[in-house]
Amino acid sequence: MQRMAMRQCTLADRVSFDGFGVHSGLPVSLVIEPAAPDNGFTITREYEDGRYVGPVSIHFSRITRTTLCTTIDIGESTDVETVEHVVSALSGLGVDNAHLTITNTECPILDGSALPFVKAIKKVGVTIQPQIKRFLKVKRAVTVRNDDAFAALEPYNGRVLDLEIDFDSPAIGRQRMIFNWSPKLYDERVAGARTFGFAHHRTALQQAGYALGSSLENSILVENDQVINPHGLRYEDEFVRHKLLDAVGDLALGGLPIYGRFRSYKGGHKLNSLVLQSLFASQANYEVVAADELPLAFEALEDLPTDLRVDAYLRSVG
Ligand SMILES: [Zn+2]
Repeated sequence: MQRMAMRQCTLADRVSFDGFGVHSGLPVSLVIEPAAPDNGFTITREYEDGRYVGPVSIHFSRITRTTLCTTIDIGESTDVETVEHVVSALSGLGVDNAHLTITNTECPILDGSALPFVKAIKKVGVTIQPQIKRFLKVKRAVTVRNDDAFAALEPYNGRVLDLEIDFDSPAIGRQRMIFNWSPKLYDERVAGARTFGFAHHRTALQQAGYALGSSLENSILVENDQVINPHGLRYEDEFVRHKLLDAVGDLALGGLPIYGRFRSYKGGHKLNSLVLQSLFASQANYEVVAADELPLAFEALEDLPTDLRVDAYLRSVG
C-alpha cells in the first residue's frame, strides 16, 4: 500500500472546465491552477473585459448564503455560488493548494458530482511541495443544532465523517455513511455521488431563482417517491454519499483539512458552516498541527500521478 506523502501538494498542471451553474443556469468556465505552499484554496472572478475580483481564500468567514449550495462573497459585492463540489474534489484527493478562476457567478455543475473534477486532477497528477502538510486538530467538541438535526466536530485520532440523513420519501429514507477518509476511498465511494432534488419542489425553487440549470444530466430527480433518471442511481445509497461529498467540501472552508471526527444528522450546508463557526469561536477548540506530529497513515490514490521529486524542487528553490 502506498502511503500518502505528508508534504503539501498542488496540481501538477492546470485543468479547465466549461459548463453552467445548476442554480443560475448561466454558462461558466472554471480553471484550477497549481498554487504555492500554504496558499490553501483561493478564487478569482474574471470578467470578459479583463476586470477581475480576487484572489481571496475560499473560507467559511466569507459565506453569505447556504440555501441549497454554499455561496461566498469574494469582495466588491461579488458572490460565487456552489463552491462545495470542486473544493470537495480537491480536499477529498488530499490536495492542499490550488487557485480557481471562474468567469461567472457559479461554479459549473457538470454531472452533479465531483467526478469530473477528480478525473481531470488524476489526469494531470499532483506535485509534492516542500512544506509539511498541516491539519486543524479538533481539541474540544462543538455541536450545532436545528430541531433534531445537528452537526458536530469532535476530537478523534483520524479523519472520520459519520453522516446520517432521514427523508420522508421512501426513495431515500434513512441512510448512514461512516467514512474513514483517504484519497483512495474518496475516489471510490464519494466522488461520483450526484446532487438530488424533488420534482414537487421544482417550480417553487425555479420561481425563487434556484435550480434553473438543473436537469437529469446533473441531478438525481425524485418524483412520486421514485428516482426518475433513466439510468437510476450510481450507488444504492447515492443520497447520503452526496451529502458526505458536500460535507467534505464545506468543511474544507475551514482553511485546513480537519483532524478529528465530523458527525451529522439531517445536516446540510447551513449546519456545516455553523459548526465551523463554532469550532473557531474559541482557540481552545482547535490547534494547527503539522502532519509529522500526528499518527497519520492515509492510503494514497494509486493511479494519481505524483511528482515526488521534492529534493530536486528544494534544491531549485535554494
Ligand atoms: Zn452538493
